[in-house]
Amino acid sequence: MQIQVLGCQGGIGEAGATTAFLINQDTLIDAGSGLGHLSSAQLAEIRQVFLTHAHLDHIAFLPFLLDSQFEHFQYHPLQVFALAEVQHQLQAHIFNWHIWPDFSRLPDENAPVMHWHPIKAQQKLRLDGLQITPFALQHVVPCVGYVVQDAQACVAVCGDTGGDDTALALLTQHLQGYQTLDAIIIECALPDHLQALARQSGHMTPLDIKHLHQGLPQIAHFYISHLKPRYAQAIRDQLAMHLPVETFTLLQEGDLLTFHTSERQPVS
Ligand SMILES: [Zn+2]
Ligand SMILES: [Zn+2]
Repeated sequence: MQIQVLGCQGGIGEAGATTAFLINQDTLIDAGSGLGHLSSAQLAEIRQVFLTHAHLDHIAFLPFLLDSQFEHFQYHPLQVFALAEVQHQLQAHIFNWHIWPDFSRLPDENAPVMHWHPIKAQQKLRLDGLQITPFALQHVVPCVGYVVQDAQACVAVCGDTGGDDTALALLTQHLQGYQTLDAIIIECALPDHLQALARQSGHMTPLDIKHLHQGLPQIAHFYISHLKPRYAQAIRDQLAMHLPVETFTLLQEGDLLTFHTSERQPVS
């Protein structure tokens, strides 16, 4: 399994772009501004998008993807998987003909360029050699992460999540069900001194990552994403204080993560 990091920042600036991970060229998890790094030919290879939640930093470029590949998607419609609440939020507030057209009715209601697939937590989805299982996360809006498995590897890609005891218990409880996990991609948006803001906004701090790390020893490696750019240095320093250096990596745009279970060594 290969995961290409198109965007992994919690904001823009400093050449950063927001969350978008491309799995094996044709499957996206989230469609933030990182999607803007792909060429037209690469965009045309995308077959399905799995959304974690409706926040703008995770969906902002989905409307542009549909528009820019409209002719292509008429023959190969884009499949969009999301919680029913997320679908309703995007239909009400983005694809409402005021902000952007409703591509699930274009060019023809019976043959649109975009198909919605409402998902539920714990419902296993199988496609093209991958098994993708959504799991619930506690954020300020309905949110999931996805465990992505193929014959070689098993990786958890999390949406945004709070870091209090309840949120960590929810995350830990689900992931403990997997005997081995090659990696987790997890957010760490804010530094420790802004823990109150992190609690209010449903985000993680380095100290929360430390607690999660202690609760999930079977995860081989932690990949950290979604740093708010203005706090990036503080978050980096605090993570280095809390975690053994060999157990985590701060994701960078352009990283290509390749997972082979047999080697147990994710290569970035
Ligand atoms: Zn969010
Ligand atoms: Zn976010």
